[in-house]
Amino acid sequence: MRPALRRLFLRALSTDSAAVLRDDHWETRCLHCRKRLQVRGDGEALGQATLEHVVPQAWFGKRAAIPLCERVGDDANDPRNLAIACAGCNHGKGVSHDARGPSDARAFEVVSQLLDSRLARWREPDVAAD
Ligand SMILES: [Zn+2]
Repeated sequence: MRPALRRLFLRALSTDSAAVLRDDHWETRCLHCRKRLQVRGDGEALGQATLEHVVPQAWFGKRAAIPLCERVGDDANDPRNLAIACAGCNHGKGVSHDARGPSDARAFEVVSQLLDSRLARWREPDVAAD
């Protein structure tokens, strides 16, 4: 896995109150279904763990998504916009909501609620973590 992607995993985990570093790996839960997921200590995903952009990257720069993008500092890779999700949930979301775009009221609502869930799990990162 690319080092840049591993850094994004670590950025998500270090700011996720559900994530715990045990010995050589992180344990957390899928943002959607709360399935247990693991990521190696160096950020390499294990098993079903995937990196999710809560507000889809493709929505940045779109007028209808401005209220959501502002909540994560207008940066798709801001840690507030990053979460760990299982492959099944992440793929399902991509098909059903992201593709419809922020002008779709239902898609906007789903992403907004997901961002609420992500921010409810927010914790300040260790200064040394990122
Ligand atoms: Zn899941």
